[in-house]
Amino acid sequence: MAGIAPQPGIMEIALYKGGGSVAPGHAQPLKLSSNENPHGPSPAAQEAFRAAAMSLALYPSTDHAGLRAAIGAVHGLDPARIICGVGSDEIITFLCQAYAGPGDEVLHTEHGFLMYRISALAAGATPVAVPETERVADVDAILAACTPATRLVFLANPNNPTGTMLPEVEVARLAVGLPGRALLVLDGAYAECGPDGFDGGARLAGTRENVVMLRTFSKIYGLGGLRVGWGYGPQAVIDVLNRVRGPFNLSAPALAAAEAAVRDQDHVAWCRAENARLRDWLARELAALQMPSDPSFGNFILIRLRDSDEAAALDAHFLAAGIVVRRVSAYGLPQCLRITVGDAGGCARVRDAARAFRTGAAG
Ligand SMILES: *Cc1c(COP(=O)(O)O)cnc(C)c1O
Repeated sequence: MAGIAPQPGIMEIALYKGGGSVAPGHAQPLKLSSNENPHGPSPAAQEAFRAAAMSLALYPSTDHAGLRAAIGAVHGLDPARIICGVGSDEIITFLCQAYAGPGDEVLHTEHGFLMYRISALAAGATPVAVPETERVADVDAILAACTPATRLVFLANPNNPTGTMLPEVEVARLAVGLPGRALLVLDGAYAECGPDGFDGGARLAGTRENVVMLRTFSKIYGLGGLRVGWGYGPQAVIDVLNRVRGPFNLSAPALAAAEAAVRDQDHVAWCRAENARLRDWLARELAALQMPSDPSFGNFILIRLRDSDEAAALDAHFLAAGIVVRRVSAYGLPQCLRITVGDAGGCARVRDAARAFRTGAAG
């Protein structure tokens, strides 16, 4: 056994820890730890999934033509330049596998999504964390961190877990300023929660040779359990990613449900409005309890506590009240807690528990 060892980089990977779902003593805790949609998916998506259960003997489509056509129609994009993956996580993996290897650098922001680092290491590349300014991505810092070895630059916009985002002009300045061999990946997992008219980076990915946009069905679409994401970018990049993609990466029920979900934009619009309304309410209520947060463009808020100890104490207090939120020490933010915006009742429970924490009352 002594000679058996994995590729370099693999042992540096710290296992990704998903949001918790257990609160001791609570059979049905309020889970606000994974940015899931409290309203769930479109009923049409659930129906399509059920219907697909009747033909499980058949292999799924290898080219995802139906789903890509639906996405293209809804977003006004060329379906030939869309690729679908098992969550956007899989497309992050494809990008690292195809464009970065030993000796190459993969940039991500200081408080960026952990999967960028994990996928870079899995490909044998070197992840490089770039400092942010007050929890906001800093274009000048990213450009300064680029070297001749930079192959990929990951930017989640809006970002998780900070909830902050860069305006399109700043993102465009980043795209223009990158060295020739670097590809900018705009992760739009929370694009639907952003400001009115925000396109998640579609315009840039549609016009520039060095920009790719990622999107997911896991957040506003309420389909985290389904595992479907997609990417859009230059034809040359999409063609490369399709070479490393497994032919049957998406199951038939997943394809059917995602296609129905994307065609139900009324559901998306309603979830989006509810999220914006309750997010602003929750942020105001918690700020009044000395738990401030940056203006969030996601379906969560990141509250700041005095220090790591206070964050741990509030986390424990929430758990005792049956509310599971996310500690984000692994993202370099030990003094913060990330709280998904639930439904109206869920947000009220968070506010009440936070108030009890401040007044020293139980639960
Ligand atoms: C949740 C999230 C994703 C989505 O991942 P999936 O694999 O599509 O579920 C991607 N990027 C960021 C920043 C996220 O927070």
